[in-house]
Amino acid sequence: MRSVAVLGATGSIGTQALEIVGSHPELTACALAAHSDHAGLVAAARRHGVRRIALVDPAAAAAARRDFDGEVVEGAGGVERLVGECGADVVLNAIVGAAGLRATLATFAAGADLALANKESLVAGGALVMDGLRAGGGRMLPVDSEHSALSQCLAGAAEDAVTGLVITASGGPFRGRSAEALADVTVADALAHPTWSMGAKITVDSATLMNKGLEVIEAHHLFGIAYADIEVVVHPQSIVHGMVRFRDGALLAHVGHPDMRVPISWALTYPQRSATAVPSLDLTRPLQLEFEPPDTDTFRCLALARQAGIAGGTAPCVLNAANEAAVGAFLAGAVGFTDIADLVERALERVPAEPLTSLEQLLEADGRARTAVTDAVRTAA
Ligand code: NAD
Ligand code: MG
Repeated sequence: MRSVAVLGATGSIGTQALEIVGSHPELTACALAAHSDHAGLVAAARRHGVRRIALVDPAAAAAARRDFDGEVVEGAGGVERLVGECGADVVLNAIVGAAGLRATLATFAAGADLALANKESLVAGGALVMDGLRAGGGRMLPVDSEHSALSQCLAGAAEDAVTGLVITASGGPFRGRSAEALADVTVADALAHPTWSMGAKITVDSATLMNKGLEVIEAHHLFGIAYADIEVVVHPQSIVHGMVRFRDGALLAHVGHPDMRVPISWALTYPQRSATAVPSLDLTRPLQLEFEPPDTDTFRCLALARQAGIAGGTAPCVLNAANEAAVGAFLAGAVGFTDIADLVERALERVPAEPLTSLEQLLEADGRARTAVTDAVRTAA
């Protein structure tokens, strides 16, 4: 039996994870956390027999206490407390944004395994997160589909046999468009992803290709591979999730339907690979797989992320925080789609990279990046 704490339990990944937990007899949910959807969280807790929940928003926590007789903790610190006290074997971090960084570190401190969907914590935390992983003694299993695929292709490989990683990108809803054609796309256009159904923030990141940029940084830390050896390739069908190049000329690919339940289940039941409801690909039906290089002149966020990754230190944290603020402004209708890259670029100029020293320094850089974006949005309005 493996006990699982699900953070971000009311979101896209969180609800799919609970579906997996409910369908695997060897998994049991022991704690759930969310930001403010108290009705959704309490309903999920009842469904899965969970007695401990955390809500970041105190008003939501108060509302949950009125109709839930288990333990309800509150505030951002409440999520960390929940992780520290619940005794989970594995913590699934499916919080959105750098808000998940403390929960990632709390998971290591508790000595639990981390199933990581919250890529932003690894992007922002970088070496700090990897140090925490080593000190904690647990495992970090990626839930991001590309990194799950790469992990599986890398299994058992001699380190010096690997010459490169290939991360696939669907290209998002605006693949093939020019920069001019992107200037007036709407929020609804950006939220219409062709192959994946996900939360709003990552859907916009997929449309700007910032998501791939974050994933390049995520792969660099997870697998210890140099940026020069991590390629991004646009693959509109989203059937090949990741590939590894080997020095003998082999290119190993992980292939399957685009369905997050597969990587979620892999991370939660590793190394057993329990059965899921997702069928294997039917190869008797026509299947076309296309690959093309990304257009980084139009989708500048991918290039900005790679530059920030190479700069290292606090730069990826600044990139990520500025992106969160810029995407928030876009979703609120305050800025246009192509402003996102401009805002991130300006924040990287305003908050110069420093070598990484502490969590406090990262949180400060994160705050300065967000302020740089809100100042720029206010000045432009
Ligand atoms: P979502 O918006 O659907 O859900 C986010 C969840 O996080 C919600 O439960 C929300 O209550 C919770 N949350 C928000 N702010 C919080 C905070 N400050 N503290 C605690 N909880 C908070 O997002 P999603 O699409 O499920 O994505 C979650 C994470 O997984 C992101 O990091 C995303 O990049 C990653 N991811 C998602 C997918 C996908 O298919 N959705 C795929 C790969 C990676
Ligand atoms: Mg991904």
